[in-house]
Amino acid sequence: MAVVEVRDLRKHFDGGQVHAIDGVDLTAADREYLVLLGPSGCGKTTLLRTIAGLEEPTSGEVLIDGRVVTGLPPRVRKIAMVFQSYALYPHKTVLANIVFPLRAAGMPAEERERKARWAAGLLGIEPLLKRKPRQLSGGERQRVALARALVREPHVFLLDEPLSNLDAKLRASARDELKRFQDEIGITTIYVTHDQIEAMGLGDRIAVLEGGKVRQVGPPVEIYDNPADTFVATFIGSPPMNLVPRNGHLVGFRPEHLLPVENVRDDDRATMPLAVDRIEYLSGDRHVYGTVTRIGEETRVVARLPSTVDTPITAGETHEFAVHGSRLRFFDAESGLAGEPVRIGS
Ligand code: ADP
Ligand code: MG
Repeated sequence: MAVVEVRDLRKHFDGGQVHAIDGVDLTAADREYLVLLGPSGCGKTTLLRTIAGLEEPTSGEVLIDGRVVTGLPPRVRKIAMVFQSYALYPHKTVLANIVFPLRAAGMPAEERERKARWAAGLLGIEPLLKRKPRQLSGGERQRVALARALVREPHVFLLDEPLSNLDAKLRASARDELKRFQDEIGITTIYVTHDQIEAMGLGDRIAVLEGGKVRQVGPPVEIYDNPADTFVATFIGSPPMNLVPRNGHLVGFRPEHLLPVENVRDDDRATMPLAVDRIEYLSGDRHVYGTVTRIGEETRVVARLPSTVDTPITAGETHEFAVHGSRLRFFDAESGLAGEPVRIGS
């Protein structure tokens, strides 16, 4: 139904002083759920607004289904955008809020209502149609905003941090709902978030943005397992990837791959004594914080041990830990870019 593509897109503000988008090439395939992930200020909203036609790019192009739409007004792009603050009209009912864009487009009343009921049914908010926004929970309001976007039968959905106003528990269930909803309607969706957990859970692919540039694009597992640089390595994962300097390189390994040595039974491993200073218990895992020296300069690292690893570990003591060779990643210390393995020895 719709492929969205941007080519060498740039958007500068303040007479060129701010490069909000700094040469982005990106394609969302038909029916794909593409997540744009990055810290606050990295250009996510600007990129979405430029795709929607709410901002003119400084240079570069936006294409929908292979057709250049740069310069065309938002309405001809068949795009619906749901903003971070999805302002509903407080004095209108849910139904009136949902049909509002159709009303504005001059659609007959009967058809409007039929469409609104269809969208409300898809989102499970039919029983709420007569209520006012203030009588709804945050999650319900969010679904109303989605329904209002959906009735326009967009070819593309652009969602800008739609869950950011919800509390943590609600976010998890709303995320689950969004995913099922997307599977059902199958509309090409570009979803913006600064939350890596949301990105990992929702995206068919994730594009990691920083400073207006795309650092890496790929399926969640690839971004997690093979980060293209140290920014991606440390932005994704909780706790993030450990990075230990050694001979002009950075040796990276995920906390869950740093285990007490007896749990890594293979010759292909890097061992290191970990001087433990703190242990936290989180969701059944032990997070062990400390300092390693052997494989490089003295560096703080964290190990995440599942409950199946029951080695006694005490703060204030040193334990031998290890990482399997296949779990080590290597980055250039200067550029931060991922590179070929370097010898570690032990
Ligand atoms: P994000 O959504 O990732 O938080 P934004 O796209 O909102 O980031 O902003 C990217 C950068 O562009 C920021 O430095 C921001 O201050 C700047 N910016 C965004 N919109 C404008 C604007 N209208 N005028 C000037 N600077 C802007
Ligand atoms: Mg934003």
